Amino acid sequence: MNIEEYKGVWVFIEQIEGNVVGVSLELLGAGRALADKLGVDLCGVLLGHNIREIPSQLFEYGADKVYMIDDPILDKYRSETHMTAVGDLVRKYKPEIFLYGATANGKDLASAVATEVMTGLTADTTMLDIDLDKRLFEASRPAFGGNIMATILCKKHRPQMATVRSKVMKALEPQPGRTGEVIEETITLKEEDLKTKVLQIVRDTSKKVNLADAEIIVAAGKGVKDANGFKLVSDLADVLNATVGASRDVVEAGLIGHDYQIGQTGETVTPKLYFAIGISGAVQHVVGMNNSETIVAINTDPEAQIFNAAHYGIVGDLFEIVPMLIEEFKAALKEVGGVKAHV
Ligand code: FAD
Repeated sequence: MNIEEYKGVWVFIEQIEGNVVGVSLELLGAGRALADKLGVDLCGVLLGHNIREIPSQLFEYGADKVYMIDDPILDKYRSETHMTAVGDLVRKYKPEIFLYGATANGKDLASAVATEVMTGLTADTTMLDIDLDKRLFEASRPAFGGNIMATILCKKHRPQMATVRSKVMKALEPQPGRTGEVIEETITLKEEDLKTKVLQIVRDTSKKVNLADAEIIVAAGKGVKDANGFKLVSDLADVLNATVGASRDVVEAGLIGHDYQIGQTGETVTPKLYFAIGISGAVQHVVGMNNSETIVAINTDPEAQIFNAAHYGIVGDLFEIVPMLIEEFKAALKEVGGVKAHV
């Protein structure tokens, strides 16, 4: 493989029924910075059926080019069709870097493409950069149980590929009217060649909490000790009209379900305000919340790692501080007419 031939930063654009998923726009933001550093184009890869309206949105979010295949065979995601289409595009156009959202489909596709074009893949990355001297893509993620951040390189194969979870990167402000080039391709597969058919899509509506879009999160750690301590935290959340979240230890203690877990093996969140109450700040928790706009930590231990991530820190016992906060917020919010108008 002559790696010098590979140029350009690509982002797989995931769309569901014509709507681009948020992480793809976030990856265009991250990809733009990488492409600018390398002095190359940022390109979206868009597969589906009846998707011709989408490229203009991608240009507004930073793409210079969009490789598009619009074909009924690509209407619903299938590993077989998407892997073949993307594999063909990679072999033809030779991108240097290729980013995918760490969604169910994105993870499936990225690993299939890695095998198809024989290259490496770093999963669930949290930081992306370029070593300009060596012209290498640096994909960082927690490793060894999260005790260290590892920067993973793919020195001998191309493209250098990574998946990134939703809300880890930031989308650019769209620039209305920004345009680019659409390169239309075709797929060689035929429906009768395929082993898999999508018969029906059944949506899972069981998930009741939407942490990813919450504006205020009040999160409990093991410092709450038991159900009484947890209730204090959820009372504070009620007063602030906030969503409750939790560390893994709280979930494992059975105080709340896994849907509420924040961190590496839970949700990634970016609220305007995040309270970390009785949470030590282990890296596996922090990677899921450190892009919150304002972080307030309450902990008895002044050396707790959570204070490194926090904008405001209160050293003290949550069983004394949280009741005081509840009373103060109740009084203050009564005066100003509720929390909604002020977030
Ligand atoms: P602890 O680390 O026990 O911290 C409790 C904190 O409460 C301490 O800092 C203590 O000083 C403070 N405290 C005690 N009493 C009080 C009081 N009265 N008032 C105020 N403060 C008090 N963790 C996650 O959260 N999310 C994940 O997604 C996740 N994924 C993981 C994946 C892997 C592969 C591994 C190995 C671990 C993962 N973990 C995850 C676990 C993580 O390493 C930590 O064990 C966990 O985050 C610790 O939870 P905690 O902060 O609630 O508890």
